[in-house]
This record gives sequence, C-alpha cells and structure tokens, in this order.
Amino acid sequence: MVTQFPHDNKANDTMQNNVTIGDKMEKLETIFVDEIPEKCEEGKLYISEKFGISIHLCPCGCGHKSVLNFKPEWSNGWDMTKNGDIVTFRPSVGNFGMPCKSHYFITENRIEWC
Ligand SMILES: [Zn+2]
Repeated sequence: MVTQFPHDNKANDTMQNNVTIGDKMEKLETIFVDEIPEKCEEGKLYISEKFGISIHLCPCGCGHKSVLNFKPEWSNGWDMTKNGDIVTFRPSVGNFGMPCKSHYFITENRIEWC
C-alpha cells in the first residue's frame, strides 16, 4: 500500500489547508505509533512508546526532522509526561544543528518558542 503524505514534498504542495507552510506552528497533534513512519507530516508529533522515540518536523516549517528519545535508560534523553494524547517534553528542544536553529518547549502539545 502506498500512503500519500500531502506535506512530504513542499515544493509541490499547492493545496490549501489548515497548515500554512513556512509559518511557525503553535500546536502539534500527537500520533501514537509502534514504528515511526519514514515520512512524517508537519504539525504532527509521532510517538513510539515501544522504541522510546518521538519524531516531529521542526515546527518553524523548515521541514527538518527533530528526534527526541525519552527512554529512561538514555541518560541524555527527554522526560515525557503524558496525559491521554497530550504530551509534554522536558527539557526544551533545540534544533541547533539545523539551519533554522529553532529552540522551543513542547508543553501539552503546544510549541512554546524560546
Ligand atoms: Zn526549523
């Protein structure tokens, strides 16, 4: 089965929808998965509790993938607090290895820009 992801190729994305490409996002939608999909959509926070990993595309709109590990055995991982599908990550996420150098907190699915 081939699954189409409308935001996979931003250059070809001419659709009108709720997500404005290139604008900073303020909220992420939690998607619980067993395995992180190869292609992620903007505005979604993929969480695999099985593998202790979370992936989202940088909410600045640059399209870079940000990976957060939250398993307790990873000493430099994040703390994830979960309440249903509302999640909080601590400490902050700093995409300093990316050109945009975005820095933000994920608090109850909201992006708090630093
Ligand atoms: Zn970015």
